Amino acid sequence: MTYSKAHVYLVGAGPGAADLITVAGAEVLGRANVVVYDYLANPKLLALCPSGTRFEYVGKTAGRHTLTQEQINALLVQLAQEYASVHGVIVRLKGGDPYVFGRGGEEGACLFEHHIPFTTIPGLTAGIAGSAYAGIPVTHRDVTSTVTFITGHEKAETATDSGRVNYQALAQLGGTLVFYMGVKSLPEICQKLVAAGMDPTTPAATVQWATMPKQRKVVSTLAQLPGAVHAAGVTAPAITIVGHVVDMHHALDCYARRPLQGQKILVTRSRQQASELSVLLEQQGAEVLEVPTIEIRPPLVWDEVDDALDQIKNYAWLLFTSANGVEACWQRLQQRGQDLRSLAGPKIGAVGPATAAALQRYGIQPQIIPEKFQGEQLAAALTELANINGQAVLILRADISRPILRDKLIAAGAQVTDVAIYLTARPEKLPDTVVQALTDNQIHWITFTSSSTAENLAAMLPGELQAKVGNIKRACLGPVTAQTLQRLGWPPTVTAVRPEIPLLVEAMCQVGRKA
Ligand code: SAH
Repeated sequence: MTYSKAHVYLVGAGPGAADLITVAGAEVLGRANVVVYDYLANPKLLALCPSGTRFEYVGKTAGRHTLTQEQINALLVQLAQEYASVHGVIVRLKGGDPYVFGRGGEEGACLFEHHIPFTTIPGLTAGIAGSAYAGIPVTHRDVTSTVTFITGHEKAETATDSGRVNYQALAQLGGTLVFYMGVKSLPEICQKLVAAGMDPTTPAATVQWATMPKQRKVVSTLAQLPGAVHAAGVTAPAITIVGHVVDMHHALDCYARRPLQGQKILVTRSRQQASELSVLLEQQGAEVLEVPTIEIRPPLVWDEVDDALDQIKNYAWLLFTSANGVEACWQRLQQRGQDLRSLAGPKIGAVGPATAAALQRYGIQPQIIPEKFQGEQLAAALTELANINGQAVLILRADISRPILRDKLIAAGAQVTDVAIYLTARPEKLPDTVVQALTDNQIHWITFTSSSTAENLAAMLPGELQAKVGNIKRACLGPVTAQTLQRLGWPPTVTAVRPEIPLLVEAMCQVGRKA
C-alpha cells in the first residue's frame, strides 16, 4: 500500500506584525498548498506562500457568519483528505500562539482522531509580545515573579465550571495579570479584582492592535482603566495588563520613541523594486502605503540587447545604470539559455551602491562603484581609472535614462553602445486605498526616489488631489529628483545627504525627532 497523506501544520502567526512569525512558520508557508487563516493572522504573511496556494478565510467578516469551531475542524479534515494524494501541505495559520486561547488544542485533537499527521509550530502570543511592544515586561526581578494569562471572555474558552476564572485567587496572587479578549468585560474584570481585595491604584494598561502600526495603548490604574479605555474608544483586539510592571513603560517603550512612530507614508516606487525603503521606514515606526508609479516592461524587441550580448567579449567595459537593469540583464541571459559566464570579458561598472548591490547578489563584483549616484560620477571615475579613449563601452540602461553618462564617455573618446534593456511605463491608475488615504488627509509623508516616480504620481493623481501633495511632507532621494519636484511645484521637505535609501530614511527621522 502506498502511504500518501497530507500534513497539517498548526502555525502561530505571531501577534500581528508580519515579521514576528517564527522562521519555522515562515518556512512551511513557503511550501503550503492551502492556508486556512483567520482575522488575527496578518494577511501580509500570505505573500510568503508560493503562487497558486489556495487561501481559506475562516475569520470574522461583517455580514457573514463566522465558521464554528466544528466547521473549521471539519474543513481541516476535508482538506487533508482532498490533498492526500499530493502529500499536501496544509497550514492552519492562527493569530499569536495556536494553543493560547486559540483552540489549537481542539484542532490538533480532531486531526489526531482522524489519523491525520500534524505538527504544531508555536507563535509569539499577544500577551507577551504585545506587552513588550507597549514597553511592559511581563516579569521583572524587582517587581514580580509570576505572570498569569487569563481569558476575559469565559464563555468562549471554558466549557466547565472548573475552568471559571477565580478572581479571588488572582487578586491574592497579584504579580502580572494579562487578560485576553477582555475589552467588553473590562469594567467587570477590574471591579471583580478590586472586590477581591486588589489595590485599586495598581497600574494597569490596555494595548490594542499590539505590534501593528495602528497599535494604541491606554495606561491608568485598575480602578480607572475601564473609563479611560472607553474614553479612548479602544476596542478589540486588545490585551490588558495589570501589575506594577506597567510602571516600567516609561523607560521601556522603545517603540513609541521611534522617530516615525504613527506616521503614514506613501512610498512611490516601481512595482518590481525591492522594498528596502518600506522595511526601513516600518522599522522606524511608520505605516507604509506603497504606490506603484512605474511598471517595468521588457523592450518591444530584443534585437539590440541580443546583438550587444553576442558581442560582449568585444567590449572593454559593461556599465549598469540601475538595479532594474541588472535584473533585466539576468533575466534575458536566462531566456537565452545562458548564465553569468556569458558576461565574462568586459570590466563591469555600477552607477551607484544600489546597482552594485544588485550585481553582488548575482556574484559579480563591479570594478567601479562611484560613491555618488549619478552618471557624471561614473563617467568621471571611468575616465580617471581607465584610459577610456578608444575603448568600447556598453551601457545597459532604462529607456528613459538621461544621456549624460553616454555623452561624457563619448567626450572622453570612448566608443559607446547604449542599449535600453528595459522600458518604464506608467500604471493606469492609483490604488483606491491610496486615493482614499489622500482624500482623508491621512498621509504624513511621500517619498520620491526618482524623477519618474514624481512625474508619474503627478500624472496619475486626480486633479482634486494635486493640491493635497503640497500639504504633505516630501522626502527626496537625490538632487535630480529634487529638481523635478521643484518643477512640479512640490519642493522637497528633505533630501538625502547622499542618494542612498538609509540616508533618505535618516533625513525623515531627523524631522521626526524634532517634532
Ligand atoms: N492565540 C492568540 C490569542 C487569540 S484570542 C495569541 O496567542 O495571541 C484573541 C485575543 O488575543 C484578542 O481578543 C486579544 O485579547 C488578543 N490579541 C491578539 N492579537 C492581539 C493584538 N495584536 N493586540 C492586542 N491583543 C491581541
